[in-house]
Amino acid sequence: MNSIFAVSEQGSKIMKNKAFKSLICTTSLLLLSLPLFSHGIADSLKRDSTAAGYRIKTIVVDAGHGGKRPGAYGSYSVEKNVTLALAFKLQQAIQKDLPDVRVVMTRTTDDDILWQKRSDIANEAKGDLFISLHCNSLPDRLVTVGGRRRRVPDQSGRGVLLLVYGFHRHGDETGGDKEEAAAIRENLFEEKDVNGGGVDFNDPTQMILLNAFKNKYRKNSIRMANILNDEFTQNDGRSSEGVREQSLLVLCHSAMPAVLVETGYINNPKDEAYLNSEDGQNEIVSTIVRSIKTYKKELEQPN
Ligand SMILES: [Zn+2]
Repeated sequence: MNSIFAVSEQGSKIMKNKAFKSLICTTSLLLLSLPLFSHGIADSLKRDSTAAGYRIKTIVVDAGHGGKRPGAYGSYSVEKNVTLALAFKLQQAIQKDLPDVRVVMTRTTDDDILWQKRSDIANEAKGDLFISLHCNSLPDRLVTVGGRRRRVPDQSGRGVLLLVYGFHRHGDETGGDKEEAAAIRENLFEEKDVNGGGVDFNDPTQMILLNAFKNKYRKNSIRMANILNDEFTQNDGRSSEGVREQSLLVLCHSAMPAVLVETGYINNPKDEAYLNSEDGQNEIVSTIVRSIKTYKKELEQPN
């Protein structure tokens, strides 16, 4: 897929941009001297994944869909139930294997939770990583049999797909990006009470810092998505559609690295059986936990 290449190419461009990095450092130092940013700054710097001593403390687990938004249907199961079962298993596995990490769930019941609320939960928890669990499906195909148009299920999709949020490349003035910038700033700097939580979009210093964090979240989202993709394919032998960028609201408004995991095609009979089996669910969860460990180790390495 071209999009896979585009993602890694963009990722490496960001990493290679040392000049930009040093600009970020300079800007961070400059901001340290501003009274506006004095509140909670020490805590904020610990949340910068490139800072020494950075730790992943909180992981947000998001079970996709719920209630009257059930998601995709298989022949006997529904996406919202599979994602909730996976989310509970993932919560338990992280608590067992990574006891120093706090797990925050966006839902633990069949409640129908809007994407804004999911992002709010993640941002209020000051998450370091957002993992959204979903199941994929393909729409029915229209075929002509004996001169009549008929809908037939398309069961050809299989395996995993990892989605990360894609930027609007020229859209820095759009409302969505402003909202994202505001979310990032609120998550990083607890100055809401000092300055009403507003971002001054005319202040180049603030915007440079916010964009730097936006790039960092995106880079780390791609990093995590690639680790997951490698684990699913190389360790579990699952087929994969790779890592793709998509403008997904729940990912865009979560001010932290975020990956949406399409765990399999619920309308493919083989995948559906796997997604609903204990062994299949345990394998998916172990793979995500292994990936978190790799990601955590990479980011927490001393500089
Ligand atoms: Zn879904």
